[in-house]
Parts: sequence; C-alpha cells; structure tokens
Amino acid sequence: MRFHVLTLFPEMIEQGCRTSILGRALQAGAISVTATNIRDYSENKHGHVDDYPYGGGAGMVMQPGPIDRAYQAVKSGIPGKARVIYVTPQGNVFNQQIAQELAKEEDLIFLCGHYEGVDERILEKIVTDYVSIGDYVLTGGELPAMVMIDAISRLVPGVLSNEVSAEFESFHDNLLEYPQYTRPEEYEGQRVPEVLLSGHHANIEKWRREQSLERTLRWRPDLLEQALLTKKDREYLAKKGLQV
Ligand code: SAM
Repeated sequence: MRFHVLTLFPEMIEQGCRTSILGRALQAGAISVTATNIRDYSENKHGHVDDYPYGGGAGMVMQPGPIDRAYQAVKSGIPGKARVIYVTPQGNVFNQQIAQELAKEEDLIFLCGHYEGVDERILEKIVTDYVSIGDYVLTGGELPAMVMIDAISRLVPGVLSNEVSAEFESFHDNLLEYPQYTRPEEYEGQRVPEVLLSGHHANIEKWRREQSLERTLRWRPDLLEQALLTKKDREYLAKKGLQV
C-alpha cells in the first residue's frame, strides 16, 4: 500500500508515521508514505498558497493551482488510477468498514486542508472521497490523514506481526472486543477471570463472545443493529434481561 499525502506540513506526516508499528511497516516495505509539500508548487514569489475568500468572511482559503500542480506531480508517479481522499469535517465519518474498503487499494492520495479550507473547484476536479474523522473541527487535515493511514495500514498484510489480531478486534463484527488481561494473575485484590486461566478454549471463546455482546449493548448499542447475532447470542442477552 502506497500512501501519498498532499499537505502544507509534510514534516508532521513524516514524523508521525515514523514510529512504532507504522515505522516498522515502512522499514519492511509493507507500506510507503510520501508527503508532498503543496507550497513547493506555489507560483507566487513568496510561496503563498492561500488567499482571501470571495464574498468576504474570516480566514484564508487554499488556492486551487498549487494543489492541482502538486496532485499532477504525485499522480504522474502512480501507475493506474488512485482514489483521492479529501479529509474534511463535511465528509462521511471514517470507520472500520471504510478502512477495510480503502485497504484494498494499492495507492491512496490524501489531500489535507488548512485555514478555512480549500477552493471548491479543485475539490470538484480531483477528489473521489470526502472523509471526516468525527464531528469536530481541527486546524488541519494532517492528523485526520494520519488517523486514516494508521487504521488502514493495520489491515495491510505484513503490517501487524499477528494478522489474527486485526481480525478479532472491536468493530470487526460490529461488536466491541472483550476485556483483555495479562500478568499478574492478581492485581490489587482483583483476580483475572478464572475461565481465562482454565486452558479450556471453548469456554474461553464462549466467555469472550458474551463479554463482547454485553459491552457492545452497554456502550455502543447502535452497533448491534448491524451485527450478525446468532440464536445463542440473542438467548444469552435475553437471559441477562438485555434486549437488542
Ligand atoms: N471551514 C471548514 C468547514 O467548516 O468545513 C473547516 C476547515 S478546518 C479549520 C481546516 C482543515 O482541517 C479542513 O480543510 C480539513 O482538511 C481538516 N479537518 C478539520 N476537521 C476535520 C475533521 N473532523 N475530519 C477531517 N478533516 C478535518
């Protein structure tokens, strides 16, 4: 998977992706992340890339020309088509399904806005997807792009050492993950649930499924509407007096 980021702050992307699991994935060649500085494509002698909004109003708007030229330069290095994601609070809210869908692509281009946003004409020209990371407004698109790169990368083969761990996580089945425990067996008087120490795999699986169901119903009941629940799942919830 190759990520290409159009940004005014390439160092944010480069530094943010260099550590931990993403950093290892970069070194191993499982992913690549290239940040292109839109300012390098300014034709203004002061390197300006933004101007006042027509019609008045607060703030500055990123001009179409520098973004277009930066995009064309990136695009010319990509074989075939690439989706162009404008990260914006106005887009579809990012989730695990969108991450899974995007993880199938070979190249993804992210456009990070700044200031008041981006001239609409360049968005209409190059953008294929408008994606938000939630209903709040950030100062720029770099953090949202990094959030998405992180979530997508985890689904790219070879990025996680144990690929199973992405498969059984929260949201995979529209259920939250069960609680996890590690050593010590007892911490401040709290013992790890006995079933996890039993070595009985079927019982452990059953306990984990039940915990997932309970957590999801308690914290994210909206997810259960999309979850594939078995008859046993429904019976368990009913037995607990919980209705889906
Ligand atoms: N004036 C814009 C609006 O009301 O829609 C917000 C502009 S915001 C201050 C600057 C840039 O940050 C946006 O162009 C976008 O790229 C990014 N951004 C801010 N919040 C975001 C969010 N929740 N999700 C994705 N990108 C966001």
